[in-house]
Parts: sequence; structure tokens; C-alpha cells
Amino acid sequence: RARAHEAGDCARGPEPCAVAEVLVPVAVDQTYSYAIPPEVRVAPGDFVAVPLGARKTYGVVWGLGAGSGANLKRIESRLDFPPLPEKLRDFLDWVATWTVAPRGMALRMAAHAAVEAGAEPVRIGLRATGAAPARLTEARRRALASLPADAPVSKAELARLAGVSASVIDALIDDGALEPVALGPEKTAAPDPDFYRAGLSDAQEQAAAALREAARQHEFKPILLEGVTGSGKTEVYFEAVAEAIAAGGQVLILMPEIALTSQFRDRFARRFGVPPAEWHSELTPRRRARVWRAAAEGEAKVVAGARSALFLPFQNLRLIVVDEEHEAAYKQEEGVIYHARDMAVVRARIERCAVVLASATPSIETRENARQGRYGYLRLASRFAGRQMPALKAIDLRQHGAARGKWISPPLEEALKHNLAQGEQSLLFLNRRGYAPLTLCRACGHKFECPNCSAWLVEHRFRRALVCHHCGHVERRPDVCPACGQADTLSACGPGVERLAEEAAALAPEARLLVLSSDMPGGTERMRAELQAIAEQKFDLVIGTQLVAKGHNFPHLTLVGVVDADIGLSNGDPRAAERTFQLLNQVAGRAGRGEKPGRALLQTWQPDHPVLRALLSGDFERFYAEETDARRLARLPPFGRLAGVVVSGSDRAAAEVFARALARAAIRPPEGGGWSVAAPGAFPGPDDVAVYGPVEAPIAMVRGKYRFRLLIKAPRKANIQAFLRAMRARGPKPVKDLKVSLDVDPQSF
Ligand code: ADP
Ligand code: ZN
Repeated sequence: RARAHEAGDCARGPEPCAVAEVLVPVAVDQTYSYAIPPEVRVAPGDFVAVPLGARKTYGVVWGLGAGSGANLKRIESRLDFPPLPEKLRDFLDWVATWTVAPRGMALRMAAHAAVEAGAEPVRIGLRATGAAPARLTEARRRALASLPADAPVSKAELARLAGVSASVIDALIDDGALEPVALGPEKTAAPDPDFYRAGLSDAQEQAAAALREAARQHEFKPILLEGVTGSGKTEVYFEAVAEAIAAGGQVLILMPEIALTSQFRDRFARRFGVPPAEWHSELTPRRRARVWRAAAEGEAKVVAGARSALFLPFQNLRLIVVDEEHEAAYKQEEGVIYHARDMAVVRARIERCAVVLASATPSIETRENARQGRYGYLRLASRFAGRQMPALKAIDLRQHGAARGKWISPPLEEALKHNLAQGEQSLLFLNRRGYAPLTLCRACGHKFECPNCSAWLVEHRFRRALVCHHCGHVERRPDVCPACGQADTLSACGPGVERLAEEAAALAPEARLLVLSSDMPGGTERMRAELQAIAEQKFDLVIGTQLVAKGHNFPHLTLVGVVDADIGLSNGDPRAAERTFQLLNQVAGRAGRGEKPGRALLQTWQPDHPVLRALLSGDFERFYAEETDARRLARLPPFGRLAGVVVSGSDRAAAEVFARALARAAIRPPEGGGWSVAAPGAFPGPDDVAVYGPVEAPIAMVRGKYRFRLLIKAPRKANIQAFLRAMRARGPKPVKDLKVSLDVDPQSF
């Protein structure tokens, strides 16, 4: 840590503060020292403009140092942004240490939004002067007449009110009939904690009371809120939100797919009178800068955001909610690689506030923390208003397989037709985008592969193209085989949602059918509209990928058909069972949330698999117990620590050689001790760190880069970050385009 002195030290010291330690948003860990010119006053947390090599950048003062500052480059100016609060700076230090990422990159995540849009432009309003314009046209008269008497309005607003063009208003300004005045910052109404309180059930009220208490305390308090789908978790944590804002605090609600849903926004507005401030990657830079500033000034009381909202400069954070805490989308896989749920708990500890982790199917880690009493534990065991959980049934494909080239089995077909005949909504779930995952020549066996990745190209019929799902490479689907030159021999293998839709449309030609997938043209805007349309029953049959599983409320949906419940069970990842369990439970949980009861049919080849048994029997406890035992036995998280190291480069041999050298550097025991390392190939003892690999990554090449992985497995108490740092320090330095990325607690391995 280069943080030298805080402001207080300096005031007490004999020498004036003349040196600032500044962290800059680049891939370095240390702060740089700059001289503070006499005319500039800075305090820790302030944004400053500094020279960095030949260029200029912004930075944030991380600490003040004593000394003359002679021979140092100077701070150019202090920038007009709200300072980064001390607790946020502590949090960034912590995140960088935990993820073994350069502190400058952590700073970038927290500060970039503020500066990327430049300083907030002064908002200008218009006011009448009383002077008559030189010439009074009809449009000019309308503009003057539309001017509100009480408050100045912006030019755009006046143009809209009067129905005139902006040039008309410019002319009035030139004539002196209107004068520009500066407006204050945009004010938004604060959420009202008592705007509309729903009557809670007894079970909900009990949980809500505990959450209100936690929100009131202003102490670090993590709580798992586990409740079956439709039990009213949102309604319940809203009570904690109300408590926190009533106490004058701010609230952060993290959600995995916020950009997609307007439902949450509406629900929040119904409860609190106004929507929350939103934060996600689809916002314009200008909008992001506004929300950033509003959080820093305490103006934004509630921010609902994607994982990066975790780095906003809240002034007085009282509560963090992590909705759907088990979601894999909380893992940031690029740049600073972090898990937003875990970091939310850390931020809550630093801010000394409550953090609520909500889910119907919590992660094994969170469950275990609750079981051991490290987290509070609240449960909602049934759906609200006596609504039934969907009835789950397996369709055993060994007995009821679909016809050749089809994927809807006879029992599922019958159930679908029946549901449609009743005028009820159905969903077919298949977690595969596109038309077919593989295209093959029946004559010569040629398969279409991505030129940049070791992956098959996926046919997309809507786009008439073959697409790589890893790098985005697109090519036309040819009519003749490029290998053998024969015509009409190319055939699609396996289903994607588009192909399933074809099959479904043939079964139910009158049904209003929608394919919901993240790669359809129209982007987020369209998906949001489609999700809304499903909720309003504008479709009878929805064919969707995992997009449809994410917490949406579809009140008219009564039948869910899972086309391939076994997808994802056999990919060799130790988290495969947990993930499949969570996903299928989420999908099934979309059914029967309204007045009519729902059911889910799961097509499977292995109805006796523990995951399917747990889902079908509803015996979640047993599933969690078995999974937890298996993890404990294997010393996998949360009973041990893991880190992934990926070496990538365009030269395959160089990448492999480098990965081997890193592994060798890693297994040499450190000079001062601190950990013992299992000999290569030996079975690691309980206190050993073990290094596995290098092996080729599951997708060996992506975007033209070959990838080799090491897996580091350490006991729970070992400092795996120190191990990774030592490994990197002792290992060879990457040359050419070789890159090493470190992933502490990888989600798939
Ligand atoms: P979960 O997040 O647990 O899946 P939700 O909070 O989305 O559950 O609630 C499911 C449905 O039940 C929603 O439509 C919600 O409005 C309704 N609901 C839950 N609790 C209440 C309540 N106390 N009063 C009125 N409606 C409720
Ligand atoms: Zn590719």
C-alpha cells in the first residue's frame, strides 16, 4: 500500500503538504507521487489531472505525503467531480488484493463513468425578459405563450411545448425576448418508503421484520433470504429498502439482467412512488455520469443495477440487495475478474451495512455460510396467496422418445396441444441459440468449424448464416459442400431454439409463437418489449433460451416444457449439477405464478440423476446435503480455494511452454515457507497447495489465441493470492502477445 499520510497527518506535521500519491486508471498497482502546486488544494479522494509519460490522464488522490515535491511532475488541476469516498477507496484496495488485479484497473471500474462523459454540462433554462421581439411570427408568438410563468424551462422542453423548431427559439434569444439562465442540477423525487405498503402474509412479515431490523442497525449483517419462486422475496426485501431510505441511507439493488426488464422498475415505482435510478451497460455515458454523481451526492437513494453498480461512490450506503444471488452473471470474466455477490458482502463489511442475498436456489457457498451461522438465514417456504408450486414431472425419453429429427416427445406434444386448447400460455425451454449447433456434409463428413476458434459454427436461419458463438465470426451457409463440392448434402445436426420453433409451429399452426433469444435482431430494446408482451399474454407459445428463466413474472404461463433437461449435466464441471438444478428450478418456477396452477415437464434420458430426483421430489435439502458433502470431500469451494490461470497466445507452442514454466515456478516452495506444495503428480495432503496442468482449455482456441490452463487448489486457510503473486513474480515474463489471466475462485473449472 502506497497510501502514505491522510490529510490529518499533514496538518499536524511540520512541513506543508506538497506531495500527493495518485492512483491512475491503468494496469499498475502502485500510486505515483506528484507535486501539488501552491494554487491547487487537494484532499484524498479528489480527482486530478496529471501527466503520465507523454500523455495526460485523470487520477484520484489516494493519500498525501510530506516533502517538498521538488523533481516531481505536477498535478495540473483538480477536476470538478465529487471525491471518491474513503470507504470506496478501501473497497477498491481490497478488491485489487483479492483478485490479484492492478489497483489502477480497480480504480478504472469505479471512476471511469464519472469522467468518460466529461464534466456535467451546465443546464440552461429560458426565461422571458418582457422585451418584445423585433418580429412576431405565429411560431414566435406560440413559443412565448407556452413559456411557463413560474420556472425556466430548457430549450428542448420549450420547443416541445410550443410545437416549434429550436431555430424559432434561438431567434427569440437573439432578439433579447428570451434570456438564458443556469438551472440547478436535475432533481428527481425521492422514493417514498410509505407510498404503498402491500399487506404481507405472516411468513413474509416475519422475514420482513428481521430485514427491517438489519437495515436499521447500520452494522455489517449478511442475510440469506431463501424463498421458493413466487414466494414474494422482492416484496419482502422492499421492506428493508423502505427502512433504509426512511433512515436517510442509500440502497443498492444488484440484479443479474436489469437491462432486460421493465417489470422490476414498474414494481418498484408502485411500491415507492418513483422508479429507482438504474445502472447498466446500455445507458449512455451522459446518463451514467449523472447516476454516478447522484450516488456520490446522496441524491440517488436507490440504485438498481448490474454488477458494476457495486463500484458506485455511495455516500451513505445502508443496504445492499443481491437478487438471484446464485446467478452466474454476477461473475465478471474480463479485466478485473471478480464475483459481484462476494464483493457485495465485502463492500457491506466496509460500509458497515446489511447485505441481503435473495434466491430460490442459493449457491452452495451461501447456503454453507448460512448453515454455519456466518450469515443470517430467512426462509419463505411457500408461494404467496396459497398459490401452488408448479407440479414437476419427468418425461423419460427412453420410453417416450421423439420421432427422428424431432425433439418434442408425444407426451409433451399432447400437453402442449391441451394447454393451447385451453387458451393458456406455454413455454418450451431449450438453452441453445440458433437453428442447429452443427452442420455436416452427409456425403464427405465435412463439418463447419470457426476459422478463429476450436468450435463448430452454429446455423442461424433467420440470419441465413453460420455463426461462431465464441468470436462472432459469420459466414454464409453455402449450397454446396466446400470440401467435396456436392450439392444438397449439407444437413443440420441437433436442435436450437429456431429449429424447435419450426417443429412447434407445425404442431400448433394457429398459436401465436415467439422465439426469445439474445441474438435476435433488435437487441435489448426488442427483448424488453417481448418480455412485456409475454407477460400480457400476447403470445400463446414461447420458445426460449435461458433468457426466459431470469426471474420474470409471466402471470398467464401455465405449462413449461424443458426440451433437454440433461444439457449441462455432463460437461465435466464440478458445478454442473448445482447450475443445472438452479436453472431448471428457475425455468419451472415461471409456471403457475398467476391465478391458475402451473406444471413443468422435463424431457430427460436420466430421470434418476440426483439433480432430476431433487427437482421432481422437491427434496432440496437432500440435494444440498449431497452436493455439499461432495464438495467437502473433494476440498472444493467453499471447503478449499481454487484459482485458474489461463495463458493465451497466438503461438500454440509458446503458450504451452510458458504455462509449463509458470507451473514449475509455482511448485517451488517459497523461501520463508507459508505454504507447502504437493509434488507434481503426487496426491496433495490436507495442507498442500496443488498445481494441476497445464492442460488445453475446454475450447482450446478462441479468437485465434491458444489457451492453456493451470488449476491451483489450496486449503481454505491458505493465502492463494500470495501464492499467485509469488508464482507470477518467479515465473517467466510474458513476451509477444502472450497473456496471463488470473481467476481467483473460477466459476467453472
Ligand atoms: P419471488 O421474487 O420470490 O419470485 P415475487 O416477489 O416476484 O416473488 O412475488 C411473486 C408474485 O406475488 C408477484 O406478482 C407479487 O406481486 C405477488 N406478491 C407477493 N407477495 C405479495 C403481497 N404481500 N401482496 C401482494 N402481492 C404479493
Ligand atoms: Zn470463432
